[in-house]
Amino acid sequence: MKKEKIVTKPNAKNMVENVLEQFNSAADQANLNENVRKILSITNNEIIVHFPVKMDNGKVEIFSGYRVQHNNALGPYKGGLRYHSTVDIDAARALAMWMTWKTSLAGLPYGGAKGGIQLDPSLYSDGELERITRRFTYALGENIGPDYDIPAPDVNTNAQTMAWMADTYMSTKSPSERSLNQHVVTGKPIESGGLEGRTQATGYGVYFLIKMWADENGISLKGKKYTVQGFGNVGYWASYFLAKDGAKLIGVQDATCSIYNEKGIDVEKLFAYASANKGSIEGYRKATEIDKLAFFGIDCDILIPAALGNQITEKNAHEIKAKLVAEGANGPTNVEGEKILLANGVSILPDILCNSGGVIASYFEWLQNRNGEIWQLDDVFVKLDKKLAESYRKVKDYAKAEGIDFRTAAYCIAIKRIEKAYIQRGIFP
Ligand code: GLU
Repeated sequence: MKKEKIVTKPNAKNMVENVLEQFNSAADQANLNENVRKILSITNNEIIVHFPVKMDNGKVEIFSGYRVQHNNALGPYKGGLRYHSTVDIDAARALAMWMTWKTSLAGLPYGGAKGGIQLDPSLYSDGELERITRRFTYALGENIGPDYDIPAPDVNTNAQTMAWMADTYMSTKSPSERSLNQHVVTGKPIESGGLEGRTQATGYGVYFLIKMWADENGISLKGKKYTVQGFGNVGYWASYFLAKDGAKLIGVQDATCSIYNEKGIDVEKLFAYASANKGSIEGYRKATEIDKLAFFGIDCDILIPAALGNQITEKNAHEIKAKLVAEGANGPTNVEGEKILLANGVSILPDILCNSGGVIASYFEWLQNRNGEIWQLDDVFVKLDKKLAESYRKVKDYAKAEGIDFRTAAYCIAIKRIEKAYIQRGIFP
């Protein structure tokens, strides 16, 4: 019997409402300039392309691709491309806004963008996915570029997707200009200009920020129980580093099922199982399958939502027993869900801080390509740690000084930086 997919389809309209509500309450708190508030409330450019691709059976299928460029006051647009059935213009809008806040908070010279293709990649062969990716890149044309808008991996896209994109984009240039355009995307495979450590960076960053929070609160991670929603790139790497520090993974949920083992789930074994099972954890024998609704109620210390948006809401937030929610996904907690968590004394490491390791490493990759350098893994981690620690301290100090929660503090820092740029430059003409 085919099982129903269980990660609830996020309502994209709600994601836009959610990000705008978060933004507006931070804008009130920071007393943001009214003109800047108007500018940041809306996206700069919204690109929708419909393009044909030849399938393995010889028939042509039409796909819809999106790229929303929210703001570029601080530098080129930056953000991932996801392949998922929930991708549409509203989802891309919300996710693009989150990227603007994320890059600003991290102190990067970037703006924010997001996009993708509305499809379920499990329904297509590798050859089809390659042709879809290449044709999408071609359709985007000069709407992306190494100093204009720089895509990266996101949900269901990876280094291979980026290699196809870079190759397609570079192939449209004259031979002498091709290499100059390698940094049109980040998150590429190492041999194709990618950065050592970029694959691990988002999940590593989630772990690093959890560790900073734990150290600050005098908590040791050894023996602490954690659960993860989503066992893709972010969920896996966050689990990997937490397990190395002695924490215990006791529950995992993905799009196919939810599993639980009080004694601990071996991260590497589960990863090996999922890799051989089309990425799914379904059928893993060394844990018990539980009801999807029971997942958020698992008694644990740390909960890591690392899947889609709008997962922790007024419907389930009151069940959460974790002391810390570390947001690996973008927009996993809605405004109502957050109110309940905060009222219950749950700490939150907000997405724009918690999952910023990925885009920070993307920035390093972009610099590496621009300068014709090859960075070593050790140096990447040292630099990543420094940036993440700086962001954490800034947010913590701001929250303490103003007596506000971490998310509002992170937003205030992000939007004030953009406000300064607008005030300095004024509005053309
Ligand atoms: N997709 C990732 C994110 O949501 C990475 C973006 C990037 O590296 O540009 O932050």
